[in-house]
Amino acid sequence: MSDKNSPATRYCYHCRTHHPVEEMKLLVTKTGSRWRCIKSIEAVKRSKEERDQYGRQVSAANQAEASGRARMLNKIQQGR
Ligand SMILES: [Zn+2]
Repeated sequence: MSDKNSPATRYCYHCRTHHPVEEMKLLVTKTGSRWRCIKSIEAVKRSKEERDQYGRQVSAANQAEASGRARMLNKIQQGR
């Protein structure tokens, strides 16, 4: 059997499972070096960006709602 059938893996401390070594990144910390998969690192990066984007969307929606309510109040007052 060749090595192709048993690819090298590393234990991912984040997922607590093994991934192929080419999907892993060696992180050096105070307590030593640890392997972590690139996917989990990217996922954290992405979810942070999504949170930031969501925060912007919410504040934009709040602004739109506030100005919409102001317009409606103006209409009611003008209708009298
Ligand atoms: Zn992982």
